[in-house]
Amino acid sequence: MMSEGKVCFDGDIFCEPCSYDDLEVIAVSFCVICTEYFCSDCTKAHRKNKITRHHATLEGDDLPNDSGVFVLMKKLTNCSDHPDVPITFKCQDHNIFICTSCLVSKHRKCDNVSEISNLPEENDKTPNQESLVERIVKLNDKTASTISLKVDNIETIRSDEKQIMQKQTQAVDEMRKYLTKLLKKSKKETKRIAAREVNILSDDIKTLKTLELKEKETHDLLLTTKEHGTKIECSIINKIVAENIGHLESKIDESNAVGKVKLIFQGNGLYDKIKSIGNTTKAIQCSYPSVDEKTDKLTPAIKHSSDTIDESE
Ligand SMILES: [Zn+2]
Ligand SMILES: [Zn+2]
Ligand SMILES: [Zn+2]
Ligand SMILES: [Zn+2]
Repeated sequence: MMSEGKVCFDGDIFCEPCSYDDLEVIAVSFCVICTEYFCSDCTKAHRKNKITRHHATLEGDDLPNDSGVFVLMKKLTNCSDHPDVPITFKCQDHNIFICTSCLVSKHRKCDNVSEISNLPEENDKTPNQESLVERIVKLNDKTASTISLKVDNIETIRSDEKQIMQKQTQAVDEMRKYLTKLLKKSKKETKRIAAREVNILSDDIKTLKTLELKEKETHDLLLTTKEHGTKIECSIINKIVAENIGHLESKIDESNAVGKVKLIFQGNGLYDKIKSIGNTTKAIQCSYPSVDEKTDKLTPAIKHSSDTIDESE
């Protein structure tokens, strides 16, 4: 029998009882009840044993690659409080599947406990296995397509991100262009005002220079008259000059009254008010196909995971 164990392919399954003796012997059968793989010797022993004789076993092409799903099935159909004891009752009061031990202990006083095999079809609340299979297949398809939609959505977001960033750069470029235009306009206006004020001052200076000449002339006139004029001449000249000086004084005062001209620039402060160039927000375009309430809703809430109990035991 050891020779069987030597013919090893990758992924071969070994007898579990033999593995306790540190032997690697190829398994040839699987017991659904014990959820264990057996070599041909152990298979024979399993069949001879009075307790395990009636156990359903899988062999040949039916030999499962993995015992996981059988273990799960076992776990779900055994009592959650007593993992080695199969569920035999359902307590309607607690809406929970229980075993015989549970029945005589915790659920002794419960009124509505029924044996699973006697359990009516629960007013069509428990769907048959075929419709469940159909539903799970359908749901699985839907999950796959939802996953692919979400994966696609990531691509969409990436491309949106790129586009938005391009638009942002574009918006700032446009703002810059517009501001450059405003800058040009503003400089031109400054130039115009400066030129105007310079012109006014130049004209003033020209006028004042003529006044200056007049003052010199008057000064000379006074000195000459004082030195060479007759008494009458002096009195006439003095009168005229006094009038002239008064006139010149008022002109100078008038010109001084204008004061020193200064040009001032004040920004409009608007750029302080621009807090952003725009906002990026999230928008839902269309929702993913939702699970259809009535037909696709999986497993009504019940304490012990599965509604369908395999009664083959
Ligand atoms: Zn067995
Ligand atoms: Zn064995
Ligand atoms: Zn129990
Ligand atoms: Zn109960």
